Amino acid sequence: MRLILFGPPGVGKGTQAKLISLKLGIPHISTGDMLREAVAAGTELGRKAKTVMDAGHLVSDDIMIGIIRDVLTSPRCASGFILDGFPRTVPQAEALQRLVTELGICIDLVINMTIDEAVIVRRLGKRLTCRSCGRIYNPEIDPMTDTTRCLSCGGELYQRDDDKPKTVQNRLRVYEKSTAPVKAYYERLKILRSVSGMGTVEEVNRAILESLTIRS
Ligand code: AMP
Repeated sequence: MRLILFGPPGVGKGTQAKLISLKLGIPHISTGDMLREAVAAGTELGRKAKTVMDAGHLVSDDIMIGIIRDVLTSPRCASGFILDGFPRTVPQAEALQRLVTELGICIDLVINMTIDEAVIVRRLGKRLTCRSCGRIYNPEIDPMTDTTRCLSCGGELYQRDDDKPKTVQNRLRVYEKSTAPVKAYYERLKILRSVSGMGTVEEVNRAILESLTIRS
């Protein structure tokens, strides 16, 4: 299956993509994680991306489309994938459509996760991420006695620079202006399904899995 998880920052795309990836046995492709890995590794891409990401802006379409082309043409994506964080602009969506057509495959479904803006700001302000495995924690929901160590791998938990309040506001503005129009693109292709991201992790996961099975 080839899926896209779509929605504003903080809606829970990363958490849900990891669960769906395990359940369906398809790789979770997070462009944000890939960029953060490049930043941590100090590559040229990482150096360029860091300034843009810290300001809450988008990395250029050319760079992102190149990254996605490399991943989707790699053997690990041969039997499916779940995209998280891509596409984020209409030109990225158009380039993805051209790429899948060229590869003779299609995107089965785009899950549009929805949430109130006030909840996003609260969630992101408290969100912690594991530096080693990327697991995301929301101390309001996840029962945690230790907010410094990851329960899965023991890695260090930290607050992403772009989860700090000023950057969150920028990311939300960028989402409305550049990313939200991608919804209409997939609506036209009739592959967009909306699911509320407001419940618990389990409730949202159930709703997403249901939306996959009711696909016509
Ligand atoms: P995420 O982890 O998906 O919230 O992504 C973190 C940051 O990485 C974003 O705020 C952007 O700066 C950058 N980024 C991730 N994916 C993309 C993309 N598809 N296009 C442009 N920038 C991206």
